[in-house]
Amino acid sequence: MADECLFCRIASRQSPADIVYEDDAVVAFRDIYPKAPVHLLIIPRRHIASIGELDADDAELIGRCLLAARRLGEITGFADRGYRIGVNCGPEGGQVVYHVHFHFMAGRPSRG
Ligand code: 5GP
Ligand code: ZN
Repeated sequence: MADECLFCRIASRQSPADIVYEDDAVVAFRDIYPKAPVHLLIIPRRHIASIGELDADDAELIGRCLLAARRLGEITGFADRGYRIGVNCGPEGGQVVYHVHFHFMAGRPSRG
């Protein structure tokens, strides 16, 4: 566990967050600066810095993140209306926090 990583600290509850879903592999919590009426972040418990650091062994873990997204659709009541999932990778991809995370956004029509 990277002690200095904000999202590792949230996953281990060393730092506060509004956690809406968690299981053995994944944690999801509210983004502190929401850009949609519902804006959640889905992270693997295990530290992976970015999509650019993934290797083949991480495939199941990334799949678990997306299964958590489906779960969040049910939890938030947006399963039928729909939601947007996004990932930023690297400096020019807009990534600010270097622990892989999926943005889950709902409640505002997506422009694609
Ligand atoms: P990125 O730009 O790396 O894809 O997204 C990082 C996200 O983390 C941003 O949407 C930002 O609002 C969110 N964020 C940054 N610091 C915190 C924090 O301390 N707590 C929570 N819950 N979200 C944070
Ligand atoms: Zn981390």
